[in-house]
Amino acid sequence: MIKKIDHIAIAVHNLESALETFSNVLGCAPGAIRIEEVASEKVRVAFITLGESKIELLEPLNDESPIAKFLAKNGEGMHHIALATDDIEEERERLASLNINPLGPPKEGAGGKKIMFLHPKETNRVLLEFAQKQH
Ligand code: ZN
Repeated sequence: MIKKIDHIAIAVHNLESALETFSNVLGCAPGAIRIEEVASEKVRVAFITLGESKIELLEPLNDESPIAKFLAKNGEGMHHIALATDDIEEERERLASLNINPLGPPKEGAGGKKIMFLHPKETNRVLLEFAQKQH
């Protein structure tokens, strides 16, 4: 079952600079920020906790990163919406029964979560991530 919006992700050229902007705009405490490198996605990410949800800032690690390609094509801006689920396999099966298939099987993402993405063509040109916290 989908529980809530886990985070909204924004692609940026420079993580430090974007982090300063968002920290100022949101007025958040330094303790609300967590930075992590996700080698599998070739990105460096910053999560800013906002109550029940987060904002994720995504910076490419190199030109091979999907985020580098996104930035080259679209510039900075919203990249995806992530939905928290308690059972990603159940969601995958539910979607498959509707003939909606994720971009590959669930894999490990930031924060050790199990994640999968739906192609934006499935959902009105918005990239959706499903994320399950590991127990
Ligand atoms: Zn995400």
